Amino acid sequence: LFLGPVDFVKGVVAMSGLPPDDRTEICFAGRSNVGKSSLINALTGRKGLARASNTPGRTQEINYFAAADSHYIVDLPGYGFANAPVSKVQEWQALLKTYLAGRASLRRAFVLVDHRHGIKEVDDEIMTLLDRSAVPFQAVLTKQDKVKAKDREPVLAQVREKLGKHPAAYPEIVVTSSETGDGIATLRAIIATLA
Ligand code: GDP
Repeated sequence: LFLGPVDFVKGVVAMSGLPPDDRTEICFAGRSNVGKSSLINALTGRKGLARASNTPGRTQEINYFAAADSHYIVDLPGYGFANAPVSKVQEWQALLKTYLAGRASLRRAFVLVDHRHGIKEVDDEIMTLLDRSAVPFQAVLTKQDKVKAKDREPVLAQVREKLGKHPAAYPEIVVTSSETGDGIATLRAIIATLA
């Protein structure tokens, strides 16, 4: 396994709880239910490492995982809950903004997007936040297995078009399925190059 063994380090609810900024760090963001936990589990080869299906309304935590003394893998709280109270959304945005602005070792953010739905407005907003924080990011499409081959290209075109408007976006889109394992090795290899 490229990343080596991965361990849960801690769940963080405030900036003061972040571990020392002394490792290459990457983070994962995405709408709730996009498949973020499943992807992190597939990526690290450890089932149940990232809790699947976070419950809306739970304390928003930034979860830190450590890979083989080399990287921190950071699981940001899911966003875009339907009917989320404004206060929750603001809390999330405040935490995210502070996190993005404060981590010098953050090399890349991966923004997960459901391959069935493409980039939604709330994803676009996160991407704008990443632009403004000058954090390079890459789009990762999830649940490819749920999209018929003929329906893939129109979504990819939409994602390409949207990414083109974000200065911090990498043009390369990683297409994945945690179910079939498609794209997981590619993503692992990308992460491994970010030493
Ligand atoms: P999270 O809220 O973003 O962490 O999403 P989860 O990882 O909990 O996944 C949400 C739901 O989508 C769960 O029922 C998963 O089993 C399912 N899921 C996640 N990834 C995939 C995938 O690649 N393919 C399919 N078919 N289902 C997936």
